[in-house]
Amino acid sequence: MPLNVTKTFLPPLEAYADYVRRIWENGWITNGGPFSVELEDTLRTRLGLSNVVLCANGTMALQLAIKALNLKGEIITTPFSYAASVNAIVWEGCAPVFADIDPGDFCIDPQRVEAVITPRTSAILAVHVYGLPCNLTALDDIARRHRIKIIYDAAHAFGVQVNNRSLLTYGDITACSFHATKLFHTAEGGMVTCADAGLARQLLLLRQFGHIGEDYYGLGINGKCSELHAALGLCILPYLEEICRKRKQAFGHYQQMLSGLPVNVLTIPEHISYNYAYFPVLFSSEEEQQRVRQRLNERDIFPRRYFYPPLNRLPHINGSACPVAEDISSRILAMPLSHELSDAQVEEICSIIRKEIAS
Ligand SMILES: *Cc1c(COP(=O)(O)O)cnc(C)c1O
Repeated sequence: MPLNVTKTFLPPLEAYADYVRRIWENGWITNGGPFSVELEDTLRTRLGLSNVVLCANGTMALQLAIKALNLKGEIITTPFSYAASVNAIVWEGCAPVFADIDPGDFCIDPQRVEAVITPRTSAILAVHVYGLPCNLTALDDIARRHRIKIIYDAAHAFGVQVNNRSLLTYGDITACSFHATKLFHTAEGGMVTCADAGLARQLLLLRQFGHIGEDYYGLGINGKCSELHAALGLCILPYLEEICRKRKQAFGHYQQMLSGLPVNVLTIPEHISYNYAYFPVLFSSEEEQQRVRQRLNERDIFPRRYFYPPLNRLPHINGSACPVAEDISSRILAMPLSHELSDAQVEEICSIIRKEIAS
């Protein structure tokens, strides 16, 4: 069995079958049915959020956020993320402008953001890379001074807290992905969350063709979450604490097994309650990264290059040079991490890394 960068958590089939039976009884399979409303309510309470709007996927969540804020012109974003974060900008007819990352936290560097602001800038779209927060204070200060919006892509940051406050409460709108590869998932899915009730209503309208009942309020799209997807989420939520506990165990074991080696791994600041979503290892050169990956692949172990290529180098994007992101992108590998990863598997991976680095 190949060992991949992640393994999708699947709840007991009987538990999901029970939900499916109730959906059949309700005869209500999508369009704001009881399970999607229950999942919205549960997430709002559990994560300490003001407003939650479920949607079809994380990319749709970003698009809804850009539309709801009526953004135009340029949006400053990070070169170090998954393609969806820049694609959402382009798809919504805005121009992405890259600001390079801070090598310390892999997130967009506020100083570089400030340097590329123009009169055409309408927003910053920043990503909490690997689930660790961007420089929230500095970005908030920039947005306030320049009267621009902030959207956070929190696809990696489900459940993360900063000083006991949900990381998802920062910025004008935060977008999440509930894709099967993420910590919490609904197979496909996502959500947008924001503090402002008027903005939340706008997001809701945009998600469902621009109307509630027979009253139309403008141009919308179909970005809804079905009952089948919502039910899967409700089914998984009770296991989430256990999933994070097991990931934390594996994460700690990796840290211990790699200590003393000339590689960089994440350090979790004291004021952060982390979700253990990823275990990236930053090697000293691209050549070393490729050598380690080759050896791991030979043993049926498949880490992923999160993130490669840097988004400024995507073929459909004409991005400016971002030397920090380009360098890190060439040297980093996300190691397997899941609720099922055993100590023995962590040890095997780390011994391969150790051996390749020594040679
Ligand atoms: C996964 C991911 C997305 C896209 O989410 P989907 O639900 O797959 O559309 C967006 N941004 C980041 C950083 C991601 O990792």
